[in-house]
Amino acid sequence: MADYIAELIEHIKAKNPAQPKFIQAVEEVLPSLKPVMDKHPEYRKARILNRITEPERVIMFRIPWEDDKGDYHVNRGFRVEMNSAIGPYKGGLRFHPTVDLGTLKFLAFEQVFKNALTTLPMGGGKGGSDFDPKGKSDAEVHRFCNGFMMELWRHLGPNTDVPAGDIGVGGREIGFLFGMYKKLRNEYTGVLTGKGINWGGSLIRPEATGYGAVYFAAEMLETRGETLEGKTCLVSAAGNVAQYTAEKLLDLKAKVVTLSDSSGYIYDEEGIDRKKLDFVMELKNVRRGRIKEYAEKFKSAVYTPIDPKLDYNPLWDHKADCAFPSATENEINKKDAENLVKNGVYVVSEGANMPTTREGIDVFLENKILYGPGKAANAGGVAVSGLEMTQNNLRYSWPREEVDNKLYEIMKNIHRVAHETAAHYGVPGNYVAGANIAGFVKVADTMLDLGLYS
Ligand code: NAP
Repeated sequence: MADYIAELIEHIKAKNPAQPKFIQAVEEVLPSLKPVMDKHPEYRKARILNRITEPERVIMFRIPWEDDKGDYHVNRGFRVEMNSAIGPYKGGLRFHPTVDLGTLKFLAFEQVFKNALTTLPMGGGKGGSDFDPKGKSDAEVHRFCNGFMMELWRHLGPNTDVPAGDIGVGGREIGFLFGMYKKLRNEYTGVLTGKGINWGGSLIRPEATGYGAVYFAAEMLETRGETLEGKTCLVSAAGNVAQYTAEKLLDLKAKVVTLSDSSGYIYDEEGIDRKKLDFVMELKNVRRGRIKEYAEKFKSAVYTPIDPKLDYNPLWDHKADCAFPSATENEINKKDAENLVKNGVYVVSEGANMPTTREGIDVFLENKILYGPGKAANAGGVAVSGLEMTQNNLRYSWPREEVDNKLYEIMKNIHRVAHETAAHYGVPGNYVAGANIAGFVKVADTMLDLGLYS
C-alpha cells in the first residue's frame, strides 16, 4: 500500500507542478492514511484517494473594479468546490496577494477533513482572490466585493455552497458580499456565514476559531492532568483568530506575551492583559493599523520588525509553554520548531491552516509534544459556521452561552476522536494521524455509499 500511496503522490506532483502548497498538504495527509488503506481494500478499488485529491469543480473568473482615482484594475477570483459527499461545499474566502489556485486547493483539501471532524453535514470548499484589501478604502473594498459576487452568486446556495471569511475577509467584506448576493438573488438566505448579528449571523462566530484552538489545547493538556492556568503562551498574528485566541487564554488565566502582523512582532514580558487586547482589537479592526503601535503605547513591549535575511522567526524563540500559530501557512519551519522545543514549548495548537512545515511537524512528533494540527485545532470556526447555517434554517438565534457550549462540546469531541483514532491505529498521541484518519473515513465511507458519480 505504501507503493500505491507513493505512486499516487508522484502522479499528483506531475499533474500539479505549480502547486507546492497543495502537494505539501497531500504529502502530509496521504502517508498517514496507510494503516486505514491497508485495512480497507475497498477504498483503493473505488479510487477514493484519487477522487478525494481532485476537486469536484473549480470556478475561476476575473473581477474588474475601479479604484477611488477612477483607475481600473483586474483581479482573479476562484472557488474550489472540493468535495460535497457529506454536505454542501463549505469553507472560507481569502483575499490576499498570495492567493492562487494551488493555495486554495490546499485549503479546500484540508477543509474536507476538518469539516468531517466537526460531525456537522458540511462538504469542503475554499475560494478567494489575489486582491489585497490592505491600504484600500472602504469604498474600494465595497466595489471589489460587488464585482466578486457578481460572478460567484450563481454558484452559491444554502444547499449548494456556503462560503465564509478567511484572511482578508472579515465582517466588513462578508457584509458587502452578502448585500450584493441578496440584491442579485432577490432572496434572503443563509448563503454566507460570519454574517452580522442583525442580519442572520451567529453569536460566537467571530470568536469561534480562536476559542476553539484554546479549547483544543486545554483538552490536550488534560491528557497530562494539566490546565492552561499560569502557562506562558506565544501567539502569532493579530487578526481574527489571534485576537480571540488571546481573549480565551486570558479567560483561562494564561499569559500571552506575543502578537504580530506581516511587518513584525511584539514581545510583552508583562503579558497582554484585557486592556492591552482591547487596544489591539481597536487598532486592527477599526483603525486597521500596524502592531508596531502596540510597543509605542505600552513600554513593557519590544517591537521587532521582520528581517527577511533570517531563516527563522524570532517570535518562536522565547521561553514559553504553549504556542498558537494564528497567521498563515508555513510560519513555523524546522528551525522554528526546534527553537520552540528548546525554549520549553510543549503544546502547539494551530489556529492557522498548515502553519507548520512537514519538517517542523516531524520535530514536534519526535519530541512527543502535544501537537494539535490545524484541521482539528481550528475546526471551531467552521463548526460555528455550521451552527449559523442551522440557526438560519430554523430562523432562530441561540444565545451566546448556548453556542459557546456547543462549540466547546464539538472541540472536546474532535479531540477525543483524534486521540482515540490515533491510539486505535497504533500511533498514540499522534493527533496528525488521528485527525487525518478520522476525517477521511467518514468522507470515504460516504463516497462509497453514494457511488462513483456522486
Ligand atoms: P485575518 O483576520 O485576516 O488576520 C490574518 C493575520 O495574519 C494578520 O495579522 C496578518 O498580518 C497575518 N498574516 C497574514 N499573512 C501573513 C504572512 N505572510 N506573514 C505574517 N503574518 C501574516 O485572518 P484570520 O481569519 O485570523 O486567519 C488567520 C489564519 O487562520 C489563516 O491561516 C486562516 O486560514 C486560518 N483560519 C481562519 C478561520 C476563521 O474563522 N477566520 C478558521 C480556520 C482557520 P497583516 O495584517 O500584516 O497581513
